[in-house]
Amino acid sequence: MATEEPREATSSAPDWHRQDARQTVEICGVDPDRGLSAAEAAKRLARWGPNRLPGGTQRSLWRLVLEQFNDFMVLVLLAAAGVSGLIGERTDTVVILLIVTINASIGVFQRWRADQALAALQGLAAPRARVRREGQWRSVPAEELVPGDIVALEAGDQVGADLRLIEVAQLQVDESALTGESVSVAKHTEALDGPQLMLGDRANMAFKGTLVTHGRAIGVVVATGSATELGKIARLLGEAGERLTPLQQRLADFGRRLTWVILGICIVIFVAGLLRGEPALLMALTAISLAVAAIPEALPAVVTVLLALGARKMVRHHVLARRLSAVESLGSVTFICSDKTGTLTRNRMHAERLLASGRRWQTQDAQAPEGFEPLLRAATLCNDAHRAPQGPAASGSDGRWRGDPTEVALVELAALAGLDKSALDAQTPRLAELPFDATRKRMTSFHRVGERILAYTKGAPESVLPRCNQVLGANGRPEPIDVAAWLADAEALAAQGLRVLALAQKEHAAVPGAPEPERDESGLTLLGLVGLIDPPRPEAAHAVRECRQAGITPVMITGDHPATARAIAHRIGILDDAREAVLSGPELASMDDDALRARVRAVRVYARMDPAQKIRIVEALQREGEFVAMTGDGVNDAPALKRADIGVAMGQGGTDVAREAAGLVLLDDNFASIVAAVREGRRIYDNIRKFVRYAMTGNSAEIWVLMLAPMVGLPLPLLPIHILWVNLLTDGLPGLALAAEPGEPDLMRRPPRPPKESLFAHGMAAHILGFGLLIAGLCLAIQAWALHSAQAHWQTMVFTVLTFGQLAHILAIRSETQALWRLGLRSNWPLLGTVLGTIALQLAVIYVPALNPIFRTEPLDVADLGLCLGSALLVWLAVEGEKAWRRRRTRGAASL
Ligand code: ATP
Repeated sequence: MATEEPREATSSAPDWHRQDARQTVEICGVDPDRGLSAAEAAKRLARWGPNRLPGGTQRSLWRLVLEQFNDFMVLVLLAAAGVSGLIGERTDTVVILLIVTINASIGVFQRWRADQALAALQGLAAPRARVRREGQWRSVPAEELVPGDIVALEAGDQVGADLRLIEVAQLQVDESALTGESVSVAKHTEALDGPQLMLGDRANMAFKGTLVTHGRAIGVVVATGSATELGKIARLLGEAGERLTPLQQRLADFGRRLTWVILGICIVIFVAGLLRGEPALLMALTAISLAVAAIPEALPAVVTVLLALGARKMVRHHVLARRLSAVESLGSVTFICSDKTGTLTRNRMHAERLLASGRRWQTQDAQAPEGFEPLLRAATLCNDAHRAPQGPAASGSDGRWRGDPTEVALVELAALAGLDKSALDAQTPRLAELPFDATRKRMTSFHRVGERILAYTKGAPESVLPRCNQVLGANGRPEPIDVAAWLADAEALAAQGLRVLALAQKEHAAVPGAPEPERDESGLTLLGLVGLIDPPRPEAAHAVRECRQAGITPVMITGDHPATARAIAHRIGILDDAREAVLSGPELASMDDDALRARVRAVRVYARMDPAQKIRIVEALQREGEFVAMTGDGVNDAPALKRADIGVAMGQGGTDVAREAAGLVLLDDNFASIVAAVREGRRIYDNIRKFVRYAMTGNSAEIWVLMLAPMVGLPLPLLPIHILWVNLLTDGLPGLALAAEPGEPDLMRRPPRPPKESLFAHGMAAHILGFGLLIAGLCLAIQAWALHSAQAHWQTMVFTVLTFGQLAHILAIRSETQALWRLGLRSNWPLLGTVLGTIALQLAVIYVPALNPIFRTEPLDVADLGLCLGSALLVWLAVEGEKAWRRRRTRGAASL
């Protein structure tokens, strides 16, 4: 049956929700207990294509090209060049066309690189699905799902394709991505009636792109790719366009306002030229060329490039940016709230201390003493670790057991004492269970032990001990229990940084039909305590220190015991003093929002937290004006991740639900990677600022030159070709090379940037106007001098000073504070390369005879060229002076 072709599995398929489960698998030609064969799956993949949505971020090349010419001013320029070509100089027209084309090519190249970088990021974020093939469950990229596949879902998963559900255990799905309805929908497997049933009412289906918030299920794939419900609307979604990041939006707004100012100036220049008797066509071309060169319409696009390239680099630090806006806002983070287990610690557990009635065992120094067997049996049986089928294990230190590291450690411990989990599971089969949940902080499993039914409970001591009314004594018989004394023992272990679990048992007359926590987890007999060590990650302490230097407060939020949390937090430097207060979940629950707000900025460690409490912490911090990054991995963490300014999900341990809600994904679940991302985010933002500083200063210089020349009685200093050429040389590649600029040395020693701070803060606007004026002043001085000394090639000199001045400027503004001789020319090779290349091109335009008539240039003699270089040197020195002044000012401020 498995090889049978599905009759129909596309959008023209039957109404799957009206079929019953058996009919569905028959139509799909699959045996639900075995799944498809590999050959059949390959055949279907060839037939139906990959399970991918149409569209995506990749734009075709011609669309990129068209976008470049979609700029109104460029079109006006081309039209004006055409007209002037028809009535006058043909070469001018051709050269202008050529320059505009090269400029557009650079634009296409930039966009293409950004798209590539984004597509690579998306590929990394691609979800996977658990599918049954040839009788085995395996994990495959969701793209490889085909109609007829049997897919398993569990809480936290994103549904990979449209499924008709055939087995359901309390499944609830968040379908808001598809229906907009934010309440989770409960699912079942019964056939439904009504062909026109709305998507939200098709309760026996699970749709691609929706998120499982609770329970488990198995379903058969009935549609993939564009045939899915999501695929049908994906085209509409695709057309909604890219969302701009806040910075891009602000820049676009600013650009629009600036456009009017520049157009106004261009009109003034045009009119002034006419009044002085310049030819109208020349003046029109000059004004339009200036508008094209000076209007910063490309700024948002360049920001995308810098963000996307930066995001690609962040992958090297094991951080995946799901949204570019997260990259941009990283530099504003003031609080990083992190999970403990696995993020700050290694999540490699090892049981170190055991306590049973009257006995202690330090695992490293001796073999298991007598009397620990009941405790170890419980730890092995009330345990969901499973043997890895084959291949390397995901976790577990010896690579044989998989599952929660706490549980793997317990299985390994029991093995030391000669208890084998597989054998025990076979002898004393599990009959029922009350699964672990982070709110109850315990779990129970029911087993048949010979003739008896025994339930084993394991969990946090405060959760288990109060439910015990006796303890198994040294003689193997129950004795009365002193709960307070045991709690104190647990506390003492926790204070050493150990994670402590209590284990207990209870005999039942029969297996409870539907186990209930309140009834079945009471009247227990305590077996003992286990203390597990989970050492901090070696890099955590350094990352914490770096955070604090950078003005960021690291905060630990954990489900673990306050004493454990405090000990670890102290060890890695989150707490300076081991006696500092730790806020616990129950305490937090009893505080109202105002009380929490009053304390939230001072608390460094939250322990015994429910995941649902994270959102209160985020909100309280935000109300206090903080900018919060918050980590999370489970379904319950999603609201807090969404609410945080930057949600950070775990890539290895986390769920799809958490990843969907997050802006960043930590590929190695490591706290230090968040700090590396912050450093990278700050560097990227700095580089965006540097680019804007460079490009806008150049534009301002061009405007000043053309505006001031007639005012001081000088003739038109530049021809349209010159303006466009300077713009081409200086705007495109050198600016992009700034993406490679390494971070400033004080990057992680300065406070976070206020999120609303203008891009032009810290004197940048004054710099743009002032240094633009300086470059323009030098151009005009040289022009005046050359005219005065009757140099025929004065225009070539102005043109060259403008180019060289901008190159000197970009070298100088590579750092906002550091002198160039400290940075060294070699610390940014791409930039040095483009600067040298640009100088070579400029020299070619001056000295290659064939180019002289085209660019209206003349060869300069050595003295004149020296003068141009000298002017550039002046620009460089002036910027260095400004930086030295700024250094002195910050030093002064620091010593106050
Ligand atoms: P973090 O929130 O930093 O990741 P955590 O992993 O300790 O910390 P939870 O998984 O919510 O947080 O666990 C909370 C508590 O529940 C633990 O401190 C432990 O006492 C108990 N616990 C954890 N795992 C198990 C388990 N598999 N069985 C029984 N109890 C457990």
